[in-house]
Amino acid sequence: MARIFCIGRNYAEHVRELSNVVPQKPVVFMKPMSCLVKPGEPIRFPGHGSDFQHEVEVVIRIGKPGRVERKEDALSWIDAVTVGLDLTLRDVQDELKKRGLPWEKAKAFDQSAPIGEFVSCHGGIDLKGIAFSCRVNGVERQCGNTGDMIFSFETLLVELSAIWALQRGDLVYTGTPSGVGPLAVGDTVEIHGEGIGTFSWKIVA
Ligand code: ZN
Repeated sequence: MARIFCIGRNYAEHVRELSNVVPQKPVVFMKPMSCLVKPGEPIRFPGHGSDFQHEVEVVIRIGKPGRVERKEDALSWIDAVTVGLDLTLRDVQDELKKRGLPWEKAKAFDQSAPIGEFVSCHGGIDLKGIAFSCRVNGVERQCGNTGDMIFSFETLLVELSAIWALQRGDLVYTGTPSGVGPLAVGDTVEIHGEGIGTFSWKIVA
């Protein structure tokens, strides 16, 4: 069964905006596959928190099973790429962090992983320079470029492989740039990846 791996604190500006420390190793958490939401499906504002935030991220899909041992081989494991949202209840997360508790209630609730349509990596997309962004009601909130990641795709796959043998269909949300912010009922959140596409969702009560 494939999984969703999520990488935290992978863009320096975002690490600073949340007053976190730049990690020595990737910060990894997971969401169940049941969190995925296709483009255009309404997203219900979750009932167990109030500061519901967007985090736009580039998402890679694993195309073959096994462990990546050398960075030089890592890109051959990636078969497709898209953009997605790591939706986060920041108030709930802050409380959990303070108490040293796991993040699932803040990060892995139903509909917390909207995902765009995948684009094959065999069509010549350059993973190392993907510009991506997030708009809310037409106003740009986040923009980033995969060239600014603290841990590269190759490093992430080697680090994940040291713990989990990768499976075909695994997804990796690779971290968000700065500009994370709140969503409200009635908002339309739209994400864009250069060479990938534009996808949107409406937040409903
Ligand atoms: Zn994230």
